[in-house]
Amino acid sequence: MPERIQRVMVITAHPDDSEFGAGGTVAKLTREGKTVTYCILTNGNKGSSDRSMTPERLVKIREEEQQNAARVLGVDTVDFLGFPDCELEDTRDSRMAVAAAIRRHRPDLVICQNPNRTKNLGASHRDHRTAAGIALDCVYPLARDHMAFPELMAQGLEPHTVKEVHMMWWDAPEVIVDISDTIDLKIKALQCHASQFKDFAVVEKRVRDRNAELGKLHGLAYAETFDRIVIER
Ligand SMILES: [Zn+2]
Repeated sequence: MPERIQRVMVITAHPDDSEFGAGGTVAKLTREGKTVTYCILTNGNKGSSDRSMTPERLVKIREEEQQNAARVLGVDTVDFLGFPDCELEDTRDSRMAVAAAIRRHRPDLVICQNPNRTKNLGASHRDHRTAAGIALDCVYPLARDHMAFPELMAQGLEPHTVKEVHMMWWDAPEVIVDISDTIDLKIKALQCHASQFKDFAVVEKRVRDRNAELGKLHGLAYAETFDRIVIER
């Protein structure tokens, strides 16, 4: 990662999305000394098949799991924006909350999800597409322009220009990250999201197979892939 990128923010819909889509990359970035922040839009309160679970209990469990996973990867801070799971909407409130997070943490690089529907239904979850759309609209122009959301200036949150965006991407990706030496950390971080898995061995195999498949095309044991938008060189 170039010198001009020092601060990174990963913006996703749910607790566990950052680890699934970019866990190996995050581990690499923190190992290189970059400061990484997570901004998670929903509270994940619908993600359970346990009939005795309540949304209130699940929020607490998922926050704790996410904090543990972030610690494994060396992430600095986790912002939970708390919008309801599976009901994330692109509204003034959600855009202002993400613009505020960007202005607060001032990332050079934003990593977000894929804003497009693809044939991969899981990765195309409506919250993922919505979160990615909000993230991109906040990078440009809402976090950057001082007259967007006057409330934020009143809170002392000055405008901020993000230099680059990486979107989690699989079809003809522009950025291929070799995660061969951080895949084990990615797996360890994913394991922290215990409430999400009945049988973690199955999940581990699926993740390793997927990252191996992405790497194979580029002669790597394991890779994560992204598309890129460069805003400021
Ligand atoms: Zn998700």
